[in-house]
Amino acid sequence: MSEKKDFLRLKVEEDLQAGKYNKVITRFPPEPNGFPHIGHAKSICINFGIAEDYEGFCNLRMDDTNPTKEDTKYVEALKDAVQWLGFNWGDKVHFTSDYFPKLYEYAIQLIKMGKAYVDSINEEEMREFRGTVKEAGKRSIYANRSIEENLELFEKMKNGEFKDGEHVLRAKIDMSAANMKLRDPLLYRIRHAHHFRTNDDWCIYPMYDFAHCLSDYLEGVSHSICTLEFENNRDIYNWVLDTLGLELPRPYQHEFARLGINYTVMSKRKLLELVQGGQVSGWDDPRMPTIAGYKRRGYTKESILNFCDQIGIAKANSMVDVAQLEFCIRDDLNKKVPRVMCVLDPLKVTIENYEGSEEIDASYYPHDVPKEGSRKIPFSKEIFIEKDDFCENLPKGYFRLTPTQPVRLRHGFIITCKEVIKDSNGNIIEIKAQYHPNSKSGEDTSGIKVKSAIQWVSSKDAKQIEVRLYDRLFKDEAPEGLEDINPNSLKVIKDALIEPAVITQKPDTRFQFERQGYFYADPIDYSDEKPVFNKIVGLKDSWAK
Ligand code: ATP
Ligand code: MG
Ligand code: MG
Repeated sequence: MSEKKDFLRLKVEEDLQAGKYNKVITRFPPEPNGFPHIGHAKSICINFGIAEDYEGFCNLRMDDTNPTKEDTKYVEALKDAVQWLGFNWGDKVHFTSDYFPKLYEYAIQLIKMGKAYVDSINEEEMREFRGTVKEAGKRSIYANRSIEENLELFEKMKNGEFKDGEHVLRAKIDMSAANMKLRDPLLYRIRHAHHFRTNDDWCIYPMYDFAHCLSDYLEGVSHSICTLEFENNRDIYNWVLDTLGLELPRPYQHEFARLGINYTVMSKRKLLELVQGGQVSGWDDPRMPTIAGYKRRGYTKESILNFCDQIGIAKANSMVDVAQLEFCIRDDLNKKVPRVMCVLDPLKVTIENYEGSEEIDASYYPHDVPKEGSRKIPFSKEIFIEKDDFCENLPKGYFRLTPTQPVRLRHGFIITCKEVIKDSNGNIIEIKAQYHPNSKSGEDTSGIKVKSAIQWVSSKDAKQIEVRLYDRLFKDEAPEGLEDINPNSLKVIKDALIEPAVITQKPDTRFQFERQGYFYADPIDYSDEKPVFNKIVGLKDSWAK
């Protein structure tokens, strides 16, 4: 737990001290209508985190009251995400649909109390009758129906005797309430649709405001934590539970600020558009702000947890800079991963005065990383360096190889350029160089001064890999829609070259490709024949705004 307690934890402590609850029970209640995103990660961290901190319990509940949008594949994705983040929901996943029979009974109870009625006006009238913030609304004539008539109609609604939209069940609260949400909110609507769990058992479905508070109650939830946009729904939450006179203790709703991150969109509906529109390869495309996307890209769960912890829990909405998330993953990987050499855009270098081959022993980690391990890097007459690491004339501040400036091959020898070979179009296609035998890294007695060390691979030993470089999915800080998509968010390099040690590592390993960034073997497309690496993040914040 962070040093400073957030307002939710303070509230939980206050309630425990006051003896309001014996046990803290929270829930994470997503609708299974899409893959969870980083905003959900925050909610997961809060709900499961608070339960852990106070030795309570957190339920995973699928809020599946909207049959047309929901699916088992989303249930699985939600479970995967919670599990991957390291949280435990116990024996079973809960579903709001499990409570449909119970919720129906509660609705009947409200009708019998004269607190709910079947309304039969159309949507347009309903909007009109609701009034405005300044103007009180008015009740529909159907609000005067007798309890018997309401019971009969509601049963017929349930039995499928009406079409979608013909009737609704509404709470009878107050059509002139200052909080518009209290103006006789809908409790049930007719929806002749197949539900992925209850199949065709039901053709009436409870609304969020009715189902949520009661599901919380039925699960013995103590603290029902949701995002700020539900602030006005809190009054209905309380009205339903209080009106039904349910036994105490009962849950109370508490709101916190939704997480927003720049350069992306964060609602399942908008993310679904990207998936359906083919702008991304799927929900787990490494550019998506989904947990599955981050996971596939190579983010660690620690980096996500750390991020959620760092941004804290606020009561006012704000936008978090994606650079902060990138900082968290960079910070985590810096301490953990082996450093290796990869050449993305190869330029051949022939070392004229070298014959045969040798292996150079090189540590995987720099001195400031307290980890051990090394590998052998093959060295031979023909190597590849990065095209960018050679320049024919010597620009100011350029520290790499030029015809007049030697450079060190990382972990290896110093080389000097002797000749530049070009094709008929004047493109540089090869460098002829000489190496300095007494300049080997760690035992250098050559006395030659170089200004930098560059990555390289031995041509006959290097393995060809595909590298996927990702940039932000949207070019706009606060994207409005698809028109703000960054057309260059993915760059694929088919023929990058990697030192052989990388290929022999177990698949779930992350690397720093020196001077390039952090990389992860794509868990889906990687194969021995065709290794594919995803760029997780660069070495420093290089995003040009
Ligand atoms: P979306 O619009 O992305 O679908 P939602 O709020 O409809 O979001 P749910 O599946 O209903 O998504 O949300 C499950 C839980 O996650 C809720 O308690 C919700 O408040 C929380 N949550 C969703 N998005 C965020 C976010 N951006 N930041 C923090 N919590 C979030
Ligand atoms: Mg929701
Ligand atoms: Mg939603």
